[in-house]
Amino acid sequence: MRSRADVVVIGGGIVGLSTAYHLAKLGADVVVLEKGYVGSGSTFRCASGIRAQFTDEANVKLMKYSVKRWKELSDELGYDVGFVQTGYLFLATTEDEADVFRRTVKLHRRLGLGTRIIDMDEAREIVPILNTEPFILGQWNPEDGKASPFKSTFAFLMRAREMGVEVHEYTPVTAILVENGEVMGVKAGDRTIKADAVLNATNAWAPLVNEMAGLDRELIPIKPFKHQLVKTEPIKPGLVNPLVSPPSWNDSYIIQDAEDGGVIGGAGVEHGPTYDVTPTYDFLREVVRWMTRIAPPLKYVHIIRQWAGFYAKTPDSNPVMGEIKYVNGLYIAAGFSGHGFMMAPGVSEAMADLIMKGRTKVPLDWEWYDPHRFERGELRTSAFQIG
Ligand SMILES: Cc1cc2nc3c(=O)[nH]c(=O)nc-3n(C[C@H](O)[C@H](O)[C@H](O)COP(=O)(O)OP(=O)(O)OC[C@H]3O[C@@H](n4cnc5c(N)ncnc54)[C@H](O)[C@@H]3O)c2cc1C
Repeated sequence: MRSRADVVVIGGGIVGLSTAYHLAKLGADVVVLEKGYVGSGSTFRCASGIRAQFTDEANVKLMKYSVKRWKELSDELGYDVGFVQTGYLFLATTEDEADVFRRTVKLHRRLGLGTRIIDMDEAREIVPILNTEPFILGQWNPEDGKASPFKSTFAFLMRAREMGVEVHEYTPVTAILVENGEVMGVKAGDRTIKADAVLNATNAWAPLVNEMAGLDRELIPIKPFKHQLVKTEPIKPGLVNPLVSPPSWNDSYIIQDAEDGGVIGGAGVEHGPTYDVTPTYDFLREVVRWMTRIAPPLKYVHIIRQWAGFYAKTPDSNPVMGEIKYVNGLYIAAGFSGHGFMMAPGVSEAMADLIMKGRTKVPLDWEWYDPHRFERGELRTSAFQIG
């Protein structure tokens, strides 16, 4: 292991690895330290959804850019990341909700997204097994999509390694070295790596890592909440191509794995704060109820897996990104509140630019994601949660 690096990245999830790749592109010597295996945090446990359909300007702009980057990544990295533009379809069950959708479409149009309102005939063409009867209209964007968490993480890992990035698994960081308010490096057990900059990319664990730099755990209040998914046996490809969600049905959603044809189902059953990832029966009961109401033929399909991971939530469900002002050279990109997979391409490029150049062309509103907003008692509009 190197004893000196320009940047040490703590955390080998999609955010840490993609930032390491972008740092290497800018010529930095980078070491990534991961306490388990890469992807073992939340990344390999996510539902794979990618959307620009947020309800506020900052997240729409960031995700519009990220979707553009998702499209380029397979060619750029030389590995297939499994990105497909199969869309997101939100379904309204009440007139009030339909009005919110209409307003959201106006915002999206203004910001250059192709989102539109569709009727249930068109919805049924897009999702042949959809139960259209309970829904008034749909909010549809065909440019949203999904990618493989496994392939994309490995694509960043492999390319970063080819570019000289050192990635060490099963290597927990145990201390952050700080002198006179400047970051000096990290310790991983008895090994020390000196560095000019350190990035905390540990998402659900970020407050514990901040504490290693002498900061209060509550300074940037990110909390781990258990969220779960189930997956069915494979069904005919294309029956549930987009992510389909009626938000008023307890934030439930279904999305078909583009590769193996299994249908993944999620719902807004949340436990925590906790670091426990044991699957629970209350989630299973709730999710199958909604999945089979959204697409009744799923009644005849077996569930073959259930698992849990973390939404690393901030008080306003928006991530924190930037430099931590109390320790020069200590950066954070965490608290993704259920959206870190989709945001990773835009966030990682912007973070690498910030660390190496102090500025970026990525349309990321630093003020919106300021890690210190909670100290000032500021909350952003809550980011729309689903998938
Ligand atoms: C059920 C579920 C569904 C989801 N669906 C979606 C979705 O459809 N779309 C989407 O965009 N997002 C989704 N998410 C959220 C997404 O999984 C996360 O936001 C994303 O994976 C965060 O990536 P990350 O790299 O920041 O964090 P992680 O993948 O959690 O990586 C952080 C890493 O830091 C490591 N670490 C912690 N402490 C230390 C230490 N001291 N030293 C070294 N390493 C350390 C951890 O082991 C971990 O691997 C979902 C999450 C869940 C649980």
